[in-house]
Amino acid sequence: MIKISQRGRFCAVCGTKTGPFLNNLCETCYKKEHPLDIEIIKQVNVEICPLCGNLKIQGTSISTWNKEEGLEPIVREVVRRTIIEKIQTELFYDCEFEDNIEEDKIMNYGVKAFEIRTNVTATPFEEFSDFEKEFTTRIKLIRASCNECSKYKSGYFEGILQIRADNRKLGELELERLESHIDQIMKKYEESKMMYILDYEADKDGITCKTSTKYLAETMAREIKSITAGKLTVAYELKTKSRDGTDLYQNTYLVRLPQYTSGDILEFEGIFWVVKNITEAKIRLESLENREMKNFDRKRIKDRGLKKSDSVVSREYMFVSSDGVNATIMALDNYENYDDVLKRLPLNKEIGENIKGFIYEEKNYYLE
Ligand SMILES: [Zn+2]
Ligand SMILES: [Zn+2]
Repeated sequence: MIKISQRGRFCAVCGTKTGPFLNNLCETCYKKEHPLDIEIIKQVNVEICPLCGNLKIQGTSISTWNKEEGLEPIVREVVRRTIIEKIQTELFYDCEFEDNIEEDKIMNYGVKAFEIRTNVTATPFEEFSDFEKEFTTRIKLIRASCNECSKYKSGYFEGILQIRADNRKLGELELERLESHIDQIMKKYEESKMMYILDYEADKDGITCKTSTKYLAETMAREIKSITAGKLTVAYELKTKSRDGTDLYQNTYLVRLPQYTSGDILEFEGIFWVVKNITEAKIRLESLENREMKNFDRKRIKDRGLKKSDSVVSREYMFVSSDGVNATIMALDNYENYDDVLKRLPLNKEIGENIKGFIYEEKNYYLE
């Protein structure tokens, strides 16, 4: 704080002899000649996106704010912040605000303007009382879609995700599993407006959708590739130029699901197997003749295996009895008993339990 010298005896402007004086001026005249040097903001524009509720103030978007808080406190806070930012002074000052912002009226078409009154006080000189400045700012509310929502509305997209199966249609369960994965991924981006999918199509031929960003398509493609041991290819396509002249590519991410999925039945080297697991290079099969588990090269199975899932007929059985080597089985569709070899049954099956399986060319097979 500056100490005022008591040089003057009377005010050079009004002539009063009542001090203190500064530069030969009394307090009243000094304040008149040297008001607080503060920029007054007459109007603040606040844009509100009617679709997502995001705010832009003086052209700058407010990136994240807690939407449960309500608009009133957030509009109030951003307007106050904008006003304070403009107050450029070396002095210590206090600010008080008063406004008529009302939650209910913010999104109301009828009322589009509020007012905020700012009162700034500072005490630059010990002997002088507070310097004050008061001004009113009009808050103009504008309903305007934000950039992201406009992009979305105009169908903007950068990526395409395609999921196809190798030489086959997708199974119902398989499709369900894929869709729930896509769902889970999208849940993570619920809060980000720039993460959306468009034109989603899913059927037995596969899944196709457009994605707002390449990142989103790539994230989904990589995740689906890893859970299915599929193969991922990316096609780059020059689409357009952005405003600043850089090339914009629209990428297509294609995940090719393996020819087999777990649970598939196939014939290979003369016996029947059920697919247990598939990785990038290997396929794990369980023999339906002796329950042995074996890993094979995917390429070898692809070339030499015969898919049988669609040509077998499901059947249910009951494990009736066993002498340790052979087993008596009852087919549950005709209640006929017959003998089979115990080692062909799923491991850990107990007498009296049901077994799911299938019949193919008059031979019975047991799955679980
Ligand atoms: Zn004076
Ligand atoms: Zn929006």
